[in-house]
Amino acid sequence: MGETEEEKDQAGKLFENFIQASTCKGTLQSFNLLCRLLDLDPQDHETFYCSLKTRLTSWRAKALWTKLDKRTCHKEYKKGQACVGTKCLIIGGGPCGLRTAIELALLGAKVVVIEKRDTFSRNNVLHLWPYTIHDLKGLGAKKFYGKFCAGAIDHISIRQLQLMLLKIALLVAVEFHVNVEFVKLLEPPENQENDGPGWRAEIRPADHPVASIDFDVVVGADGRRNTLEGFKRKEFRGKLAIAITANFVNRNTTAEAKVEEISGVAFIFNQKFFLDLKEETGIDLENIVYYKDNTHYFVMTAKKQSLLDKGVIIHDYIDTEMLLSSENVNQEALLGYAREAADFGTNYQLPTLDFAINACGQPDVAMFDFTSMYASENAALVRERFGHQLLVALVGDSLLEPFWPMGTGCARGFLAAFDSAWMVKRWAEGRTPLEVLAERESLYRILPQTTTENIGKNFEQYTIDPGTRYPNLISTCVRQNQVRHLYINGELP
Ligand code: FAD
Repeated sequence: MGETEEEKDQAGKLFENFIQASTCKGTLQSFNLLCRLLDLDPQDHETFYCSLKTRLTSWRAKALWTKLDKRTCHKEYKKGQACVGTKCLIIGGGPCGLRTAIELALLGAKVVVIEKRDTFSRNNVLHLWPYTIHDLKGLGAKKFYGKFCAGAIDHISIRQLQLMLLKIALLVAVEFHVNVEFVKLLEPPENQENDGPGWRAEIRPADHPVASIDFDVVVGADGRRNTLEGFKRKEFRGKLAIAITANFVNRNTTAEAKVEEISGVAFIFNQKFFLDLKEETGIDLENIVYYKDNTHYFVMTAKKQSLLDKGVIIHDYIDTEMLLSSENVNQEALLGYAREAADFGTNYQLPTLDFAINACGQPDVAMFDFTSMYASENAALVRERFGHQLLVALVGDSLLEPFWPMGTGCARGFLAAFDSAWMVKRWAEGRTPLEVLAERESLYRILPQTTTENIGKNFEQYTIDPGTRYPNLISTCVRQNQVRHLYINGELP
């Protein structure tokens, strides 16, 4: 009995370490220790969450179970039986890959996420739409990160969001592997016996256990440079747009607390600000956003001429890749430009503007080209080879690249995560490939049009069922004969 109490106490402490862990590695370590102590195997994905719940009964744990139980009750998951037997591979542990993983696990699928890095290091801050805040709170966000969207705050650093989603994913028995890179799909071999291998993934390192798992579903969530074959990309080419992001150390002093944030949408219309900025500093911007988060985060779109005038860009090239190549950028001048814009933008009220340090140990400032943005032409396809079918889908930036200053990445990314989970559910129900694809493409047509205004307002009712999120939904606008080319019965390219 004494031993049990001691064990309970220790488990409570390990759980606390897990909840508090502030790095990707620390989270995985504390989770493994906890599972070892409780003698639980997360690979028993069908029973893991329930077993964990009965074993962890501290008030902190119970408060989290109450939240998560409410979620697992959604009728779409069919008590975790909707996708039992379906094996899903998710490429990329960014916010959208992780969010998709959680939904698939709640549907009862076996879910494996591979992430090529082993750190969550992006300080940059994501704008959250009200529904995403509601969604994350419903998954217990505040239990993991007490400061999550307190008061009027509607943003979170990418790093913090990944951390929180990883913890939730682990609790619902998602397998998460770091330092594993997806290379390509491997089709099933010909002339095999019935129990021969199915669709697999070539990964690095090649001898990793994930290499020998057969998958029914593969989801590309590896960011803007999607590595999955077979998806054509549409380019949206606008006028030259150069974005700069900058993160400064937030010491959380009273003086810093008083400085007002700049919400991008409202600010775009404030012409006087931009004229004054140009006159006083020579900096010419189209927009600027400032969020006070773990760092003081700024994202701004700068006009090329002012970057040339201020010596940030050295030579004027028409080719944007050459224009923004590291050899053509004066890093010191870029730091100065970002700092001056941040100082002016906050009316010189931030007492110190010391750059936060990025994953490479450098001041966290970056310049990106937004002239071209890409979207995949299609959201999913089905491959069939030697009697084995594979459902392949894209989510997040791989599917639809966001324009960061507008903050659509996470919001539309999560909608696509839910739509993809819905598709996997349909797939598991035994619907035909064309039925599944036609519905998915119909939903994908809606995605680029979504705004905070035109999606459903009753967040409490949101589930993976698209009808709960998209008012006036017509989920048959794409017909089956329009998606025949997405059902590929043949060799991989
Ligand atoms: P990502 O967050 O890009 O995650 C993709 C993940 O896949 C990464 O963890 C990557 O390591 C992993 N990966 C890639 N290739 C492989 C592979 N072959 N095998 C395994 N894993 C792989 N949005 C904003 O609104 N504001 C910003 O300031 C901002 N800054 C950004 C800075 C950077 C450097 C990047 C890459 C993106 C930024 N974004 C920003 C976009 C924003 O991060 C995304 O919209 C959001 O994170 C959702 O993206 P995602 O999960 O689809 O992809």
